[in-house]
Amino acid sequence: MNPSAIRDVVIVGGGTAGWMAAAGLARVFGELIRITLVESEEIGTVGVGEATIPQIQLYNRLLGIDEDAFVKATNGSFKLGIVFNDWGAIGDRYIHAFGEPGVPLGGLPFHHYWLRDRLARGERGRPDLWDYSLNAEAAFAGRFARTPQSGFGPLGEMPYAFHFDAHLYARFLRAYAERLGVRRVEGKVVDVTPGEPDGRVVSIRLERGEVVEGELFVDCSGFRGLLIEGALKTGYEDWSEYLPADRAVAVPCASVEPLTPYTQASADAAGWRWRIPLQHRTGNGYVFCSRFISEDEATAVLLSRLDGEALADPRPLRFLTGKRRRIWNKNVVSLGLASGFMEPLESTSIHLVQSCLDKLIQYFPDKGFADAPRDRFNAEADAEYVAIRDFLVLHYTATTRDDTPFWRHCKDALPRTETLKARIDLWRTGGRLPVDERDLFKPNSWLQVLVGQGIEAEGCSPLAGRIEDAKLSAWLGDVRRLVAQTRDRLPGHADFIARTCSSAAA
Ligand SMILES: Cc1cc2nc3c(=O)[nH]c(=O)nc-3n(C[C@H](O)[C@H](O)[C@H](O)COP(=O)(O)OP(=O)(O)OC[C@H]3O[C@@H](n4cnc5c(N)ncnc54)[C@H](O)[C@@H]3O)c2cc1C
Repeated sequence: MNPSAIRDVVIVGGGTAGWMAAAGLARVFGELIRITLVESEEIGTVGVGEATIPQIQLYNRLLGIDEDAFVKATNGSFKLGIVFNDWGAIGDRYIHAFGEPGVPLGGLPFHHYWLRDRLARGERGRPDLWDYSLNAEAAFAGRFARTPQSGFGPLGEMPYAFHFDAHLYARFLRAYAERLGVRRVEGKVVDVTPGEPDGRVVSIRLERGEVVEGELFVDCSGFRGLLIEGALKTGYEDWSEYLPADRAVAVPCASVEPLTPYTQASADAAGWRWRIPLQHRTGNGYVFCSRFISEDEATAVLLSRLDGEALADPRPLRFLTGKRRRIWNKNVVSLGLASGFMEPLESTSIHLVQSCLDKLIQYFPDKGFADAPRDRFNAEADAEYVAIRDFLVLHYTATTRDDTPFWRHCKDALPRTETLKARIDLWRTGGRLPVDERDLFKPNSWLQVLVGQGIEAEGCSPLAGRIEDAKLSAWLGDVRRLVAQTRDRLPGHADFIARTCSSAAA
């Protein structure tokens, strides 16, 4: 055994982040490390965070879990994208569907051909981009199936993610992690002990006196950031200037049919409301900016828009958008809400847990805690956070809404970073969508939000001119027909669940 190898890893917090970290590290490192997870039932978890993006399948694959068992255990459902209501203008509706609309041709992305045809016809107004997207068509038709091994012919695949019950997800991962030997300690951490000479954390003390020692600490203690902030005073970058929402109120309600295979994000007077359909209930929330609406008003609005009977009292939550100055500081790596938070408009928080966990595995330190791996980890995590922030800001700034003070503020006063401005410019002037390796959201995502929120491209790649007009129209018609035929062959979402992973049958 390498004497400088880390043996004892302590995870503080047993929410989604804590148990994802415990399960992932136990699976990858096996006997090489001992993992202790400390959590306090009395403090509890944030209990929201129920919509994901397709990358979660990579995490599931890492754990080697059976997808049907996972969906069944978490009362989960499938997600093909996010439907945005009333964002560009009141009455607008578009979907940010996972997967690419259309099929590429001759090495050129599909959207250039679509743009060329649209521009040639002088078309403005509601775009038909989503007629070419299997994910979008299936979502609106309430249909779902897993991508067959061979894909859907020329349409490739139908990427999907999940909606699940956050409490059941943490329970599911806990059972998994404990089977792999993770030790769970119940108790409230009341003190964190720094060591000499550099102030690294050496141990934590619980309320009942027990001391838990470790070499590497993973802070998953939620917004309070018990170790990363409470003990190490790392500092926080406040991003509320970019994303001004600072509160949410959440409430579950009874399910109504149909069981939609998508999340909804509906813009409202001072923020937006989410709707996340699970097998046994629907999760709802209103993310809002407290400068423009009171908590009581936001709660009343949320309750008035539920599509089933409320199943619990509305739960208020407060947050400050931003991230820790160093997500990994000394021997403490923060994950989940302890590392930072951006509103769940594109369901990115659970993904950030997964992606930072992945980086931790890649740059896993030894007892020397050299600067290089930590610096690289922090640089990569920062870049990912910033790119997501730009993408979220786009939703608020690409709007014509000026019906409330909140929307006027978004339209006129939210800062646009240079990178965001450059992206919009590239799109407007020629339909170009740059690819940046670090971006979580690829051109296909930018395309749908730009088009969906009414930012028109004035040109497209000259390469799209390689096909004659008549051939282009015929080909586009073929792609539309193929999408519609494939959609019609898919089973209903609820039927698919009933056959494969119904929790009622569990
Ligand atoms: C309004 C809202 C909506 C969201 N929606 C989504 C979404 O749709 N999709 C998505 O990906 N993400 C979403 N998120 C984010 C998601 O909820 C979190 O990323 C995820 O739940 C991880 O939370 P966590 O484990 O970091 O924190 P928590 O769930 O808060 O867990 C913290 C843990 O630390 C423990 N703890 C704290 N202090 C102590 C102490 N002193 N001693 C011992 N234990 C302690 C607690 O007991 C708990 O176990 C949302 C967040 C909010 C606020």
